Order: sequence, then structure tokens, then C-alpha cells
Amino acid sequence: MKRIVPLLLFCSLLSAASAAPPNFVLLFADDLGFGDLGCYGHPTSLTPNLDRLAAEGLRFTDFYVTSAVCSPSRASLLTGRYQTRSGVYPGVFYPSSIGGLPLNETTIAEVLKPLGYATAAVGKWHLGIGKNGMFLPTNQGFDHYLGIPYSHDMGPCQNLTCFPPDVKCFGTCDLGTVTVPLIHDKHIKQQPANFLELEQAYSDFATDFISTHAKKGQPFFLYYPSHHTHYPQYAGPTAAGRSLRGPFGDALFELDSTVGNILAVLEETGAINNTLIFFTSDNGPELMRKSRSGNAGPLRCGKGTTYEGGMREPAIAFWPGKIKPGLTHEIASILDVLPTVASLAGAQLPKVILDGVDMTELLINQGQSKRETMMFYPIDPTEKYSLFAIRLRKYKAHFYTRGASHSSTTPDKECSLFTPLQAHDPPLLFDLDADPPEHYPLSLEGRADLHAVLEEIEKIKQQFEASMVFGESQISRGKDPNLRPCCNRDCSPKPECCRC
Ligand code: MG
Repeated sequence: MKRIVPLLLFCSLLSAASAAPPNFVLLFADDLGFGDLGCYGHPTSLTPNLDRLAAEGLRFTDFYVTSAVCSPSRASLLTGRYQTRSGVYPGVFYPSSIGGLPLNETTIAEVLKPLGYATAAVGKWHLGIGKNGMFLPTNQGFDHYLGIPYSHDMGPCQNLTCFPPDVKCFGTCDLGTVTVPLIHDKHIKQQPANFLELEQAYSDFATDFISTHAKKGQPFFLYYPSHHTHYPQYAGPTAAGRSLRGPFGDALFELDSTVGNILAVLEETGAINNTLIFFTSDNGPELMRKSRSGNAGPLRCGKGTTYEGGMREPAIAFWPGKIKPGLTHEIASILDVLPTVASLAGAQLPKVILDGVDMTELLINQGQSKRETMMFYPIDPTEKYSLFAIRLRKYKAHFYTRGASHSSTTPDKECSLFTPLQAHDPPLLFDLDADPPEHYPLSLEGRADLHAVLEEIEKIKQQFEASMVFGESQISRGKDPNLRPCCNRDCSPKPECCRC
């Protein structure tokens, strides 16, 4: 007995020494659809690094975002809460928006900071800028930030130069506003941002951050919301022309190359075995861009809609030695990232109503998800037109359907902007295991089992809607042209003079 006690003590000391808090790398693509990655079946995408994460990690088939557009989805990812609570609706923030993700919301970075984590965000923020940059990442728990703080089409496209440098990127963007700025922490570093060098700058920022903190032995959280593969697609010299898929494929390949650089620095520093990498996208493909859009695979419609193509996304969790390679059909969501990170790090959860559940059991043991339901809000939720659809286990009930401009030009007329709001009573009910594309509503005639499912869903809807307190809409706070980021504050005439 006397000999066992010191041995146990030694073992527990050893385990405490090896139980350094895990690092987190959260990768978030933009407007990337369910069918866009090689590992999700796309025939011409070039995504070797993301495919590696999928082959050696856990790949999800039933992973959901909370909104079919950018800003609300980002708010839910970082807070673990539906966007209706934080007020990040309707639609998205613009360069002159007065509002932003409210500062009293708790982000993943703020959950980790009390434990001594180094935190950084790089890429597309899109949760507001506000007066004096009050909503930028450095005021939301991130020590450092490098990026364009909104969508890169929210500025004149003629300044968005693609490779080779004399080629203009395809399409039209927002004219009459400032050219897109590259912000470092709180200051404009470059305006307009140089898209030929942008991805390299992001990759360098990300790898330097990881290397610095891995060498120090300080746990870190890197959030990389990429501009890729949002319209208009661009790619620097090392990615342009590399993919069979054209400009969309090149943009995706450039994102994938940064993932490769991140993996390399994690391996070089030895941090890889203590790092959870999680990859997903903010919303479905913007099908209106035709061959320059993403692809929802077998799923119906895309961005802007509450069909599966708008809100079911590729997702991969990778952690060598901790997460076994595999595939899961369990239901999970971006809402679940914050509770999972908190659980793995041993951090306190924010003292607010959270909509996410802890995925640790699902990730580490490929166990069952604690999530049975997913709520589908339209991009412009109101208390009157609140939930458009609910998923319960394998069933999804649509109370309302509507097409969207973002998904127009697809041959399926249900996706089109010209398909107005339709109410369904009884709701359209689909079996998503048998019919992932939602093509064949189930007939309820003589089906007591399906009536019971609908009753259960109705009950869930009533309870959820009765308990939902809508936060004040931050996007409806409006715009102030003086808030548009300008590197040359006193210049004139604006916005053309905002160049540095
Ligand atoms: Mg998006």
C-alpha cells in the first residue's frame, strides 16, 4: 500500500502536467455549400488539406447554421445563441451600420480569456464596426485582429483586382461607398485592401500567432472567418488558375492552402496533438452567381432560404489522438461550438440563455448528440413570422417557405426570388434521412405516427417561441455615412479620397 500511494501521486502529477488546456482553431468559410469540398463529393474542387482534416477527423452530415446569411450566423457561432436573442437581424451589417454584436454578449474569446488564452481573429468579421470601432473584434475578447471587417463586395469592385494584376474580378459590387479597408487591431492598415496579397497576409498572421503562443506554452484560440468563397471570388498568384473549377475553385483552393499552412505550423511547434480544429461555413451557396456560386450538393436551394441548402453546411472536427476518424449523422450546430469549447477548456459558461449544447461526447467518443431539434429562422425574423421550419430528429416541418434573391437563377422555382411567402397548414413535413433534398412532402393521410410527430413539433414550436425574447434589432438601428471606415479622416470628397 505504501508503495502504491507515491506511484498514484506520480501518475496524477504526470497527468496534470500533460493536461495543458487545449488550443482551438475555428475556421469559418463564407457562402460555401454542402457540396463544395472534395470530401463532400465535389468532382473538381481542390481541397487537399480540408480533405485531410475530414479523413483524419470527424465529418458531419447534419450540421446546421442558424441563418442563411452572414452576420446572424457569425453572431450565433461566437455566442452560442440564436441571433434573435442578440439582435443580429434582419439581414447583415453594412460599412455604415450604427449597430453591431452587442458588447454585453459573451463571445468564445471572452469565455477563454479568464483562463489565460491568447486570442486572435483574422479575416471577415461582419459583426459591426460602429463609432470609434466599438464593435471590432478587439472589443469582443480578441487580443488582435487583421481583416476586412465586412463582406468584400461592400465596396466598389473596380478596386478588387484579381490575378494576373490586370484582370478585374468578375461582377458588380457596392458603388458609392468606401473601398474596402484592411484593419489591423483598430486601425486601417491599407485602403483599398490588396486582394492579390490578402490571403498571404492572413496566413502569415495566423501562423505567426500560433507559432508565438505555442512556443510560449500559452493556450490559444484562433478564429479565421475567411472571405473565401464569397462573391466576387479572388485568388492570389499562387492559387489563381490552379483549380479545374475556375475562379470559385481557385478561391477555395487558396483558403485550403491557408488551412495547410496552419496545419504545418501546428505540426512544427508540436501543438497539433493539443489543438481542436473545427471547420464549417456561415451559410449556403449564393446560387444567383451561377457557375461562380457554391454548390449545395443534393440539398434544395441555397443562401437566403430555410431549405436545407441554405442552412446545412459541411463541418469537420479534427484533433489527432483525441477525435477518431469517422462520419456522424448526428444533428449539430454552430450554436454548439461555444459550449463545447468551454467544456474542453474547463471554462465557465456565460450566465445567459444558451441555445447550444456540449458536443464533447459526440466528438471524443462519437456518441450521441444532445441536440434533437434545430430551429430555422428566416433572414428577417419578426415575432409574427418567427420560425419558418423546425427539424426534430429526422423530420423537418416547414411552416413557411419562400424563395430568395441569393438563390435565384436555379431551375427549381421554389428557390427563386419570385416565389413569395407561402404559409403551410398543416406544415410540409419531410423525412430528411430518406429525402435530404426535401422534394417529397410526406402524406399525412392515415399516418397516426406522422400526426404524432407534427403534434410534438407544434408543441416544441409553441414552447420555444413563447420563451424567446427578441433582442433589440442591431441592424435596424440604421446607418450613418460618417461611420464608413476612412483612412484619411479629414479628406474630401468622400468616399473617393479614402485611400492610403
Ligand atoms: Mg456568408
